[in-house]
Amino acid sequence: MRTRELTRWLARLPSLTPHQRTQLQAQLQALSGQDAVTELIAQRAAPTQCPRCASSHLVRNGQAHGLQRFKCRGCGITFNALTGTPLARLRHRGKWLEQAEVLEERVSVRKAAARLGVHRTTAFRWRHRFLSVPNQVMDRQQSGVVEADETYFLRSYKGQPRRLREATSRPARRRGGRAAKRGLSDEQVPVLVVRNRSGHTADFGLASANKAGLVQVLRQAVMGDAVLCTDGSAMLAAVARELGLEHHGLNTLRGERRRGAWHIQNVNAYHSRLKGWLHRFRGVATSYLTNYLGWFRALDRNRRTGANASALLALAIAG
Ligand SMILES: [Zn+2]
Repeated sequence: MRTRELTRWLARLPSLTPHQRTQLQAQLQALSGQDAVTELIAQRAAPTQCPRCASSHLVRNGQAHGLQRFKCRGCGITFNALTGTPLARLRHRGKWLEQAEVLEERVSVRKAAARLGVHRTTAFRWRHRFLSVPNQVMDRQQSGVVEADETYFLRSYKGQPRRLREATSRPARRRGGRAAKRGLSDEQVPVLVVRNRSGHTADFGLASANKAGLVQVLRQAVMGDAVLCTDGSAMLAAVARELGLEHHGLNTLRGERRRGAWHIQNVNAYHSRLKGWLHRFRGVATSYLTNYLGWFRALDRNRRTGANASALLALAIAG
């Protein structure tokens, strides 16, 4: 825009109604947000492979929507740095940084929608696109002293169709309420968290917590020469034996909290931070639990490295 045109345009600002001013402000904010996001995307290393045919014969092919476009010489498709990530084709890029912030601040979908100026269904969709990003970012093959312990989440059908809820023949429970039955029941979803003393973390939903399943899980999560600490459950002890791991099971039922260097206090502290964080969302549908677990892992890792919301977004963009 020419300076003279801008001056004329600015001179008319006082004639805006308060509502129009708010609109203008939101637009400007979105634009600077978009610059920040575009900057983040540009900082990514250029793709080295075609997301469709994996050919490495790529050329730059102009810009589209403010992003560098690439063309594959193998199959001819064009794509950008976001293709193949959960954020591809997501609109309103200017608001993504704010979206990462509202997730970090754990505000409700309703409040997030108001703050971002989008409809609730949009806010909900965005939340889950962003949440699904760190799903696969898991610390595997952990070494050193590795603590493993189960924790439980109440099964929830929040936000799902009524007929699905009714299919589970139990009376509705107030949000975030307590399980009617004590101990492990089908009302609870078991999750095994594996965390070593350097803070590397992995978690696994244990839909059917049998020995074979646990062997598979721990084989991925733990190096063969690691030392495993658990609460002394017979099942985990059997799994450790099968994998040939050095294992120290504490007798937590008898109140044993630590035996020398062996304890599970790090993983238990992680459980309570995770639950505190989840509590703010007032009940999480079980079908989305892995998304939330993944996002919390990412937050936890970022806290160790001192990263902020834009780092979360960078993680999202990294797909
Ligand atoms: Zn290709």
